[in-house]
Amino acid sequence: MIIVPENAIGDLIGRTESFDAIEAVFAAMARDDAYNFPVIREAIGHADALYGFKSGFDRAGLVLGLKSGGYWPGNEAKGLTNHQSTVFLFDADTGKAKAVVGGNLLTALRTAAASAVSIRHLAREDAKVLGMIGAGHQSAFQMRAALEQRSFEKVIGWNYHPEMLSRLEETAREAGLPFEAVDLDRLGAEADVIISITSSFAPILNAAQVTPGTHLACMGTDTKGKQEVDANLLAKARVFTDEVAQSVTIGEAQHAVAQGLIKDADITAIGAVINGTHQGRTSPDDITLFDGTGVGLQDLAVASAVVDIAVAKGVAVEVDF
Ligand code: NAD
Repeated sequence: MIIVPENAIGDLIGRTESFDAIEAVFAAMARDDAYNFPVIREAIGHADALYGFKSGFDRAGLVLGLKSGGYWPGNEAKGLTNHQSTVFLFDADTGKAKAVVGGNLLTALRTAAASAVSIRHLAREDAKVLGMIGAGHQSAFQMRAALEQRSFEKVIGWNYHPEMLSRLEETAREAGLPFEAVDLDRLGAEADVIISITSSFAPILNAAQVTPGTHLACMGTDTKGKQEVDANLLAKARVFTDEVAQSVTIGEAQHAVAQGLIKDADITAIGAVINGTHQGRTSPDDITLFDGTGVGLQDLAVASAVVDIAVAKGVAVEVDF
């Protein structure tokens, strides 16, 4: 069995490999070659922790496994990150344990890759201004991956906690781009691509604030009750997602579906666009919206890529198991 510890991940996999792994697994999901198993998530009644499993099987890539972990709110006081996860991979032919891979950095890379895939396939080619809503841990990963998809010239941003906006400014500066903190009216009016990555439980951006031609990647809503944009925006937009079943239950679309503004059938798996079986954007005036809910197959895809890279580089730690 191969072990890739958390602290080795950063030297093994970057944005390009993550993007390729996520694009491939979304495509496989839309071909019904890969599927996610039901998610388990439990409050364990200890350390205030939320613990769960996300698992699945990619028959095309022969990737079988699970990501296990969750949220331990007391970790920060212990010098650890609150979100903790580990990926376990199994040999699809025998069921033997194949690899244990640190899942923390991989979660950020695969989440950023998902919105980057949506930008690659749905944003207007001439997109110049990237709008960021959210300035937490994930936001810098999101911005870096997004900036590689189009010739962006400027980043603008808004955050519920304005004191956190310096993270966006620093990340934009690293990429050699100007950053401006703006209000939500300006963000909606000026951004060609908008990424939302917050833990909000109420809509932040109104439908009226978003202009024709915008692509949105709503990445923060991954739980029942969370919400980042007005449900009416989904009725105005062409809506895409990683997995429709998650989008309508725990994703951004849950509210528009519950209010009868859209139906499951109005939401398209992004893999269909990647595979060329769905047109995606149909005009420069379409508003496209990607509801990135986060599926287990994404975790397995990047973990499997890391294992392959570690083996190819000769740095894989192998134990007899
Ligand atoms: P974080 O705690 O570092 O940052 C939280 C962000 O949400 C900050 O920008 C904060 O200002 C903002 N926020 C907090 N309360 C808010 C409120 N009431 N209204 C509006 N904004 C508020 O978190 P993070 O690690 O950056 O993750 C951000 C979100 O992304 C979380 O909700 C997380 O669950 C989600 N997430 C989704 C996926 C996925 O695959 N879709 C993957 C990882 C994380």
